[in-house]
Amino acid sequence: MTSLKPAGEALISLVFPRRCPICDRPVRPYGAFACDACAGEVKYVHGATCYKCGKPLKDESAEYCEDCARTRHVFKRGISLFEYRSVSDSIYRFKYRGRREYAAWYGRMMAQRMGGDLIRLHPDALVPVPIHSSKMRSRGYNQSALIARELSERINIPVWEDAVKRIKRTAPLKDLTPSERNIILRGAFKLGINDVKLKTIVIIDDIYTTGATVDAVADVFLKNGARDVFFATLATGKGV
Ligand SMILES: [Zn+2]
Ligand SMILES: [Zn+2]
Repeated sequence: MTSLKPAGEALISLVFPRRCPICDRPVRPYGAFACDACAGEVKYVHGATCYKCGKPLKDESAEYCEDCARTRHVFKRGISLFEYRSVSDSIYRFKYRGRREYAAWYGRMMAQRMGGDLIRLHPDALVPVPIHSSKMRSRGYNQSALIARELSERINIPVWEDAVKRIKRTAPLKDLTPSERNIILRGAFKLGINDVKLKTIVIIDDIYTTGATVDAVADVFLKNGARDVFFATLATGKGV
C-alpha cells in the first residue's frame, strides 16, 4: 500500500491541481504556491506603520494608529503581512470554503517577509488563536493553526496549539464596536495546560482588526506568568 501512496498523491495533484490563493485557479506555473502574476497584485503592509499594532498609518507622521492612540492593548506589539482588502476574498475562501491548501503560501510568505523579525523576538512558541470546539467540528480545521504550522516549519519556532482554549462561542465580531468586542470576548479563552512555562509568545491569527481577540488571548498568558506577548497576523484591517 505504501508504495502506491506517492503515485496516488501525484495523481490527485494532477486531477486537483493546487489552487492559487488569490485567483483560486490552478497555480501558474505548476508547482508554485501562488501564481507569479497574482502574488504581484496583493498589497503587503509597508511604509509607516503603527508602532503598537503594525497597521498602516493614515497619518504617516503619527506614532500610533487612531485605534492604538485611544486603546490600551495588553499585547506588546504586532505585525501583519497583507493589507486586508487586497486578500479579503482569499481569506474568506480559506476560512469558509475549505481552501486549507492556501496555508502553504500564506505561511511561506509570512516566513519570508516577517520571519527575521519574529526570530529576533526569541519566542518560546507560536500560539494560534483557537476556535471553539463546535466550530472545529463544522469547519474541520483552525485556519490560524494551519498558518502557524507552515510558518513554524520555516522559522523553527514550535507551535503550541493546546496552550489556550476557546471556551465560549462568540458571534462573528465583524459588525461590533471595539468595546462590544471586548465585552463579548471576556472569559472566552482559558489556559489549555496547567503550568505555562512560556515567557515570550507570538500569537498567530488570520486577521487583525481592533486587537480585541489578540488582547483576550494575551491576557490569559500574561495572567499566568508570560512576560511578553506579541502577535503576527496574515492580514490587517485599515484605519478601524
Ligand atoms: Zn492566481
Ligand atoms: Zn495601532
